[in-house]
Amino acid sequence: MFSPQRTMPPSLTVSFHAQAHQMKEKGQTVYDLTAGEAKLPTHPLLLEALQEQLSQQPVYYASSAGLSALREQTTSWLNRTYQTSYAPSECLVTAGGKFGLYLVFATYLKPGSEVIVPSPYWVTYPSLVSYFGGQPVIVPTQEEQGFKFTPEALQASITDNTQMLVLNNAGNPTGALYTHDEIAALLDVAAAHDLLVVSDEVYSALVYEGSYASCGSFDQHKARVFVIQSCSKSFAMTGWRVGFLLGPQEAMPPLQGLQSQSLTSTSTASQWAAQIALSHADTITTWVRDEMRQRRDAFVSACSDIFNISLRPPASALYAFLPLSLLGFHEELASNSMRACQHLLEQAQVVTVPGVGFGYEGYVRCSFAGNPEQNTEALQRIHQTLQP
Ligand code: PLP
Repeated sequence: MFSPQRTMPPSLTVSFHAQAHQMKEKGQTVYDLTAGEAKLPTHPLLLEALQEQLSQQPVYYASSAGLSALREQTTSWLNRTYQTSYAPSECLVTAGGKFGLYLVFATYLKPGSEVIVPSPYWVTYPSLVSYFGGQPVIVPTQEEQGFKFTPEALQASITDNTQMLVLNNAGNPTGALYTHDEIAALLDVAAAHDLLVVSDEVYSALVYEGSYASCGSFDQHKARVFVIQSCSKSFAMTGWRVGFLLGPQEAMPPLQGLQSQSLTSTSTASQWAAQIALSHADTITTWVRDEMRQRRDAFVSACSDIFNISLRPPASALYAFLPLSLLGFHEELASNSMRACQHLLEQAQVVTVPGVGFGYEGYVRCSFAGNPEQNTEALQRIHQTLQP
């Protein structure tokens, strides 16, 4: 009776978290380098204004596209900050950026068609593509090229069956950040082959070096681009579950239809919180970025000192993607990230995410978004464990 017609593979990190949890329950201290979110309190500006609003207004259903005032604020924030030209009618408020991705693949992915996903990738892309009957085509990028996908690699991966390209700028897990010209060149190739481009831009405000180029800012390509945005990372609001899906006007009605018949809308109270956050967008994003920049710098300097290496600071996002060999792993463990991370958990009580989970073997993802002192202690423990 219960034979699933569609299943989602479990995340590779689940078993590490379960083990870490068990260790904590036994009273062991566990050092966590897996945080996928800025570990910061809710910004006081947001708390005060939201409390006031909640005391004055009942929390009713919102329209399935999202509160119209929020869609206006979001598009004006993006247009002002990233030189896009979105109208509120080209924006859906979703339950995090993740549900925006779900809506796009559920609505537009043709079963059997290929979706190009550069690796290392954020774990959700290939899972969602497969779930909706597409074929993820994983194309590795190179560390020497800053883990950035090139127009040549894109061109070489396209077949008659390719329908979409997924880009993640700024990138999880590598912090890769594309320039305006690099994005332009990729979009030109996508246009020459009539591909849809799904551009995941949820880390756009967490940029530490250089400026940010949104795929949505190229007017000539706007008709083939979906932008995934979110309050989660840039505003340190992961648990509120407010994200945005932006796309061409004509593409929006079926996306809104699916959201309406599935989620209804994301929580009205969370949308108010997002409205307040967006009305202080520059203050809050600057606060999150400055905090995260300090943690990144502390992490990079601790890593360089402890391992005696020269580490280039990630240009964006919340993670360092490190070769296992750089940390001192040798031979088999240096090329088996699952076993290496298991070793770190058992021997150093440090939880990390294996590169293989991002489709890239031989590396480990370490988040610097948590407490800087604990990050340094975790790195010291890794080093001690791997001493010959
Ligand atoms: N995209 C990337 C690259 C992410 O790393 C994450 C979360 O880790 C998301 C999207 C999902 O974010 P949200 O909380 O907005 O659903």
